[in-house]
Amino acid sequence: MSRFVLSIALGALIVFGTSCVQAQPRFAIIDMHFHAERPDAEGPPGGKVCAPYQEWAPRDPGRPIEEYLEWFTLHPTCRTILTAPTESAVLRDRGIAMLKRYNILALAGGDAATVEDFRSQSEGHILPAIGFGQSLDFPSVEGLRKLFSEGKLWAISEITAQYSGIAPDDLRLDPYFALAEELDIPVGIHLGPGPPGTAYFATPEYRASAGDPMRLEAVLIRHPHLRMYAMHAGWPMSDAMIAMLYAHPQLYVDVGILDYAYPERDFYAYLRRLVDAGFEQRIMFGSDNMIWPDAIPIAIRRIQTAPFLTARQKRLILHDNAARFMRIEG
Ligand SMILES: [Zn+2]
Repeated sequence: MSRFVLSIALGALIVFGTSCVQAQPRFAIIDMHFHAERPDAEGPPGGKVCAPYQEWAPRDPGRPIEEYLEWFTLHPTCRTILTAPTESAVLRDRGIAMLKRYNILALAGGDAATVEDFRSQSEGHILPAIGFGQSLDFPSVEGLRKLFSEGKLWAISEITAQYSGIAPDDLRLDPYFALAEELDIPVGIHLGPGPPGTAYFATPEYRASAGDPMRLEAVLIRHPHLRMYAMHAGWPMSDAMIAMLYAHPQLYVDVGILDYAYPERDFYAYLRRLVDAGFEQRIMFGSDNMIWPDAIPIAIRRIQTAPFLTARQKRLILHDNAARFMRIEG
């Protein structure tokens, strides 16, 4: 699909003010990190998550991993525990209901079939993206090109190759960056946290070191027209993240998962560090809702109630920065 046709399609998402001088955004919030998933995507259906966790429990390597998982997946210690729906349609519909209730436009990543299922039911609240990387079963570039031509690929996101031990500058990812640069669509790449200790129970190849924001640099230099954002803002490597944001002004971040699952003081300290470093126009809201739609309002509330953010900064993070990055809504 040409850019011209795409922009006409985009016009349907925008409601202009009566003066026709200033576009009024249709959506109050843009979620750059929404997942279209089935209930078994994060382990056995009905899994739990803390919103937020208050601590990360220790593991005794001499004890069975099941004891650790008992804490993490079944009986986490925190005040608010979210439980995932076990039916696909319920999970989908609750997620979409949240998007409608809070007037959110979500960039939804996942496999093509699940994303299309969500999008078709969303009444315009979902922009489709394709994510991959947790296994080495990467999609074909031609398949992505076809999805783009059908209007079903607004971004390549979330690339989760860190779970396979593959860092951003690994050349196995380069064809996807080249494609995104050619098609002029954004790329979101997972940098930072997985489930704590995931290498020992879920994704053996996950490496924290493959989430170093410094590993973005070769990609950004190789593809100077690429619009890339670091998902999870490269937590906890704020120094490296700031170095990359400073050196590469086209780079953005989102704060997915940190904003509902990470201890409040840590999330706020991390977010504040990026804001204080001067990057309030490069931080985007993301829920990283996977299978817990109830996480979305919690994530929003933590931005809205952050004591160190001005009203303008909250608006930038919740909406305006993503609109600028995605080149939507004026
Ligand atoms: Zn992620």
